Amino acid sequence: PIRPSSLVDSTAQALSIKYNNLVYELSAAGRDIITLSLGEAFFGLPLPRFDDLAAHGLHHYSHSRGLPELRQRLAGYWADFDVPVDPDTEIVVTAGSKVAIYMVLLALLEPGDEVIVPEPFWLSYPEQVRLCRGVPVMVPHDVSVFDLARYVTPRTRAIVINNPNNPSGRVHTDAELEFVHDLADARGLVVIADEAYHEFVPPETPFRACGSFDPELRHTVTINSMSKNYGVSGWRIGYLIAHRTLIDQVLKINQHLITCAPTILSWYLAEHFDDILAVTRPQIRRVVDLRREVAGQLADIGIETLPGSATFYLFASLGRSTLDSMEFATRLLRESSVSVVAGIAYGDSCDRHIRVSVGTESPYRVARGIAAIR
Ligand code: PLP
Repeated sequence: PIRPSSLVDSTAQALSIKYNNLVYELSAAGRDIITLSLGEAFFGLPLPRFDDLAAHGLHHYSHSRGLPELRQRLAGYWADFDVPVDPDTEIVVTAGSKVAIYMVLLALLEPGDEVIVPEPFWLSYPEQVRLCRGVPVMVPHDVSVFDLARYVTPRTRAIVINNPNNPSGRVHTDAELEFVHDLADARGLVVIADEAYHEFVPPETPFRACGSFDPELRHTVTINSMSKNYGVSGWRIGYLIAHRTLIDQVLKINQHLITCAPTILSWYLAEHFDDILAVTRPQIRRVVDLRREVAGQLADIGIETLPGSATFYLFASLGRSTLDSMEFATRLLRESSVSVVAGIAYGDSCDRHIRVSVGTESPYRVARGIAAIR
């Protein structure tokens, strides 16, 4: 057998993906699974004809910074969030935002450098830090943002802010974000702001982009993606926004790793940038409303959730159950055909929680799933 490197051998599988593969297999075998475990919302996305694209000669590589038309659209979009971006020098479009985060970490970290990762965390952050030979420093979920300074050491290089948060749906307040930026300034840290779900913030919740606190991009890296906000996760288009000096470093990695993001899909997104948002935004609204209703249903049956109002995720407490989160999720799937993700995937302090996603099922089926959780 071929021997893997110890670095990769010790990397954990993405638990949510592993788990959802099981759900796909059970569904394919004819089992009716109420799927509350998927990391996306399913939109109806009627699109103009695709086969017209051949005429544009788009079957080839594009600029490794990303197709200029798409960078231009993204810069216009972020200006509305008070994040001024130069599309020529401060954006790289990548094959999904997952690889964008990885490339940023690779560009920043020396072996042994630390990255602060607040729990509950999106499960790829710690593994990506480790793959870059860095050290993820996890912060239990009940620690306040205002106490993060306690986790900063001379080796700390960056802090991850996932706003809104997967899996809790929490949106950070302005005061919290300002505190993080002041901390970054004072201690020379980079703020990696993953805002992949920012369209899923309900209108009554104030949201400020991290980049708006740092218009010169001195220490902020914004990560974002078309996956969730545009409902095209399979197209693999994400991007990062950062100071040009960091972008130039990331660009080298991008060139050696993926060359460029998918050209034809980038062009398509640039062409239909506003049309797609016009189609997804009302659907996003419905999903966020459903999330609020489900939070109410859970509260009514005595199940607490971590505070949050955005995304399509709820992070529900297991209350008095004596099972750990893995046992709970496995039993729920086996006995009730309802899939959720075990909280342990989101940090050691989260083994008394499960993640419930309301992005893919009808309200009726979500309610049936919730009843089974009880
Ligand atoms: N960031 C967060 C918080 C996510 O939940 C995800 C996907 O689940 C991603 C980034 C990566 O998305 P993509 O690589 O599809 O852009």
